[in-house]
Amino acid sequence: MNDRVLILNADYSPMMICSIERAIVLNFLGKSELVHEVKGKQLRTVSKAFAMPLVIRLLKYIHIPYKTVSLTRLNVFKRDSFTCQYCEKKEHLTLDHVLPKSKGGRSTWNNLVTACSRCNSRKGNNTPTEVGMRLINMPFRPSYTSFLLHFSGFVSEEWLPYFNTKKRA
Ligand SMILES: [Zn+2]
Repeated sequence: MNDRVLILNADYSPMMICSIERAIVLNFLGKSELVHEVKGKQLRTVSKAFAMPLVIRLLKYIHIPYKTVSLTRLNVFKRDSFTCQYCEKKEHLTLDHVLPKSKGGRSTWNNLVTACSRCNSRKGNNTPTEVGMRLINMPFRPSYTSFLLHFSGFVSEEWLPYFNTKKRA
């Protein structure tokens, strides 16, 4: 069952994902309003019934500092859906520098991809073209909201319109 709620800022931009309990409290305190609810479901207490929120919106705009996804091994794996970007295998995953470090390649979102250990050793200290390998996707810096969407563990169709579905920023 869905127990995640998308919180929108007052301008309808996605802010974060929270639990149903938190969303109900925010609504109850008058800090937010219900935008979408789970159809046909209610949460009941002894005396009251609450709509089950799916999307809520804060009534007051909150300025948040620009959020970025930190460049970590795990986050690169997540961006690449835990898939080798050369052969699509999903095991023995490592990080590969597309332009090898020995050739000046840096550890950046645009130069790091998920690769299985076999592809990684096949590629060695070469660029993909030098050894006739091809990337399935070009590496990119993921946006915070795309991470929010893809890795929340739950995505409701009602959430999608609020996200910029463009993957590459
Ligand atoms: Zn591979």
